[in-house]
Amino acid sequence: MSVSVQLNHITKAFGTTLAVNDISLTIESGELFFLLGPSGCGKSTLLRVIAGFYKPDTGKLLFDDKEMNKVPPHQRNTGMVFQNYALWPHMTVGENIEYGLRLRKLSNSTRNEKITSVLEMVEMSEYRDRPVNTLSGGQQQRIALARALVIEPSVLLLDEPLSNLDAALRQNLRDEIKNIHRRTKITTIYVTHDQVEAISMADRMAIMNDGVFVQVGTPREIYQHPADPFVASFVGETNFISGNIKENADGKATIETPFGVLHTESVFHDFTLGEEVCCSIRPETIQLNGNISSNKLTAKVDAVTYLGRVEEYALIISDTLKLKAIIHNPGTETKKPGDTVNVSISPDAIVPLPINN
Ligand code: ATP
Repeated sequence: MSVSVQLNHITKAFGTTLAVNDISLTIESGELFFLLGPSGCGKSTLLRVIAGFYKPDTGKLLFDDKEMNKVPPHQRNTGMVFQNYALWPHMTVGENIEYGLRLRKLSNSTRNEKITSVLEMVEMSEYRDRPVNTLSGGQQQRIALARALVIEPSVLLLDEPLSNLDAALRQNLRDEIKNIHRRTKITTIYVTHDQVEAISMADRMAIMNDGVFVQVGTPREIYQHPADPFVASFVGETNFISGNIKENADGKATIETPFGVLHTESVFHDFTLGEEVCCSIRPETIQLNGNISSNKLTAKVDAVTYLGRVEEYALIISDTLKLKAIIHNPGTETKKPGDTVNVSISPDAIVPLPINN
């Protein structure tokens, strides 16, 4: 049975490094939840606290209503998958998967049935008798996933499970993990520093930095309404233009910038008049020679990169401001480096963010 995971003021330090700093959150039963953040922000430490490998210095961890702080890792009924697979190299696929079932003292026939069914789930049935050291990285990771799933964990913990795999295989396994999650509905907590992985898979995600959750939400909420400039630049690509709030009412604002006044209809924070803000503008929202009447700038094209589905433009507005624009479905070549273009940005695409959050 899947459980909810409640973090209640969890803190974990190593010497003077505060790896996890007073984190509180409930991950709902059945959720596919991501911990996303840069290297060293505390993601793995938090996952290990949940698994029971680390004791928190303060705070409580609950699975449903049950406090877990004193429950040893092997009694938490969690399944864990690591970046480096962590399989026993000289055992067969079947023996690797069977290990956890033996510990649970299940009968021969039950063990057999469960191994057969989990191997089907990860599409590795024909490899049952192969030593794992004869498998490719992607196949080994499927077996690591099978070994974690076969015990029917209450919580599945995945620590950068796809980082060692090439891009095509990663995409493939992303889809499969998502499918398996949809079928099993096991509460899953997935650590990654890959924002595409998180955005494409998560029900909800927490953006971590320096041991704290900077923002928690669905991928759409976080991409469209980032809490601050760090989140805006970590989740997806963005441009920033700094300025000061000149007018501000009813979700609209005008912002004075060194490049002219910007009008926005995407104000999601409380700002005071005169406050310094950082406007996030996603590259795909910038229009070149478009017909929007406000938020017009003149730019010189610095570089054009044609990528088939999209075309990327490096634009120079001034010595201190460069913008990136992405145009979808590019047709024939129209703009070249050195050309002057009119840039326009829709008021709902300019998102002012607080600077010192
Ligand atoms: P990565 O993506 O690089 O794995 P992370 O976000 O998972 O990073 P953690 O591994 O949780 O980060 O580390 C958080 C901080 O705690 C880092 O500063 C790290 O150096 C420190 N740290 C983690 N484990 C230990 C340990 N066992 N002893 C001392 N310091 C540690």
